[in-house]
Amino acid sequence: MPYPLTLSTMLQRNRLLFGGKEIVTRDFSGIHRYTYADYNVRVAKLAGALKRLGVRPGERVATFGWNSHRHLEAYFAVPCMGAVLHTLNIRLFEDQFSFIVNHAEDAVMLVDEDLLPAVEALAVAGRFPTVRAYVVMSDKKAVPPTRLSPVYPYEALLDAETGEYDWPPAIDENSMAALCYTTATTGNPKGAPYTHRGIYLHALAICAADVLGIREDDTVMPVVPMFHVNAWGIPFAATWMGAKQVFPGSRPDPKALLSLIRDEKVTITAGVPTVWMGVLQLLEREKYDVSSLKAIVCGGSAAPKSLIEKVERGFGVPFVHAYGMAETYPIVLVSRPKSYMKDLPADELYAYKAKQGTLVAGLEMRVVAEDGSEVPHDGKSMGELRLRGPWIIEGYYREPERTKEAVKDGWLCTGDVVTVDAEGYVQIQDRMRDLIKSGGEWISTIDLENTIMSHPAVAEAAVIGVPSEKWTERPMACVVLKPEFAGKVEGKEILDFLATRVAKWWIPDEVAFVDAIPKTSVGKFAKRFLRDRFREKRFD
Ligand code: AMP
Repeated sequence: MPYPLTLSTMLQRNRLLFGGKEIVTRDFSGIHRYTYADYNVRVAKLAGALKRLGVRPGERVATFGWNSHRHLEAYFAVPCMGAVLHTLNIRLFEDQFSFIVNHAEDAVMLVDEDLLPAVEALAVAGRFPTVRAYVVMSDKKAVPPTRLSPVYPYEALLDAETGEYDWPPAIDENSMAALCYTTATTGNPKGAPYTHRGIYLHALAICAADVLGIREDDTVMPVVPMFHVNAWGIPFAATWMGAKQVFPGSRPDPKALLSLIRDEKVTITAGVPTVWMGVLQLLEREKYDVSSLKAIVCGGSAAPKSLIEKVERGFGVPFVHAYGMAETYPIVLVSRPKSYMKDLPADELYAYKAKQGTLVAGLEMRVVAEDGSEVPHDGKSMGELRLRGPWIIEGYYREPERTKEAVKDGWLCTGDVVTVDAEGYVQIQDRMRDLIKSGGEWISTIDLENTIMSHPAVAEAAVIGVPSEKWTERPMACVVLKPEFAGKVEGKEILDFLATRVAKWWIPDEVAFVDAIPKTSVGKFAKRFLRDRFREKRFD
């Protein structure tokens, strides 16, 4: 049957089967719990309230919030009423924030109460002309004092609805269900539009056992923010499968995350490496029961091999490394060793796990050299990863010129430079802009960083290229020491450590000890700030 693949079908199945299962949120008053039966009524009420606020099919409804049950309500209410869920990154600078709201022409904005000041400042300055109404997400039935206008309390809006909603019967599967902006290195942020069909197929793909393996009997906790690439699509998949969901709420720290894992018996959780590094540090100091976990999913930037080994061998928790980007909904690669690799020596096994992994079923990839030829799968030859498939964006939202640069001959050019080994495991060597070219050869900064971060005194490390007349560029390492080693380690010790672990010409010309590695709004190393800081450096 030419049956449309839409979020409506996913929600319907949840309504039919999982009324008794739980959704848990860590909020300001403690732990909030309710069932999918309550959830479904509230999703219908939210759709009713948004309709009453004048939201029409195709219009964008923005969210500005942490991971919570209310955010999950918007995840389904908005697309299933035929509108577009636009998740705003709460950590953006003012100019990017207002650019995005205006570019998307958001009609209504749902805002977490504790995030009101950030929205208020811009709204009052008249920076959001398209926004017709603000809705404050909190337990309170009245709006706190605010200069936003018109503004409504979420809970009172829902109270005014019956919970019966006349869902549109036939949403076009190729229509936009969600919109996520990605911060470009140059120019304004770019919008990645997600269709119903793409979200549906991506959700099915991540439920596969060889990907994230989300099932009904799981308890799933996305730590990756719901404002960043839809929390990797996990809330869509978990709702569809009827898994219990746990949302860590506002500003979760390692203690809050470990307490939720222990108390709610979380089985699958997902986040960026910096989150798991913090969790690991606490776990090494204090005891928490994490035996319920069957997967810590980690992506967004490279997971160091040392982190993977410590989590798996030290605490017996399976670690799943994954790769993707906003343009790919996002999951593309997942690193799970094949059945016949399980008995490999630990070093080889963890080398596979530290790679970004093999292609998820349903996508196609090519790795292309500078001259346009495909590179051999020898684990050494580098090329740009290009992708196509049902959950790869066709182009950026209202950006024909930038779409032409990124999508060539039907393939998305990821801008990531990779190698592929004979088993098909892809390893990200660098973003094209971060790769260092020294004496005509490429140096992978990711590889170098991970090796430096396996030194016992090192908390974090980022490597940048410094101009050199002789070699074009040479690497420089910016290193943050663990507090107990601060001032006690010299650069030479780090360089000696590298001498037995990487090629001689990869060894950085200098180690600079810094207080912190600057991070992007989603917790990745922001190397451009380091490049700015060391702008005057030359290695000649
Ligand atoms: P974003 O669109 O903000 O999610 O960023 C996507 C980019 O993050 C990718 O193009 C990669 O450069 C990087 N990335 C994502 N996952 C990984 C990973 N597991 N290892 C290395 N880099 C990654």
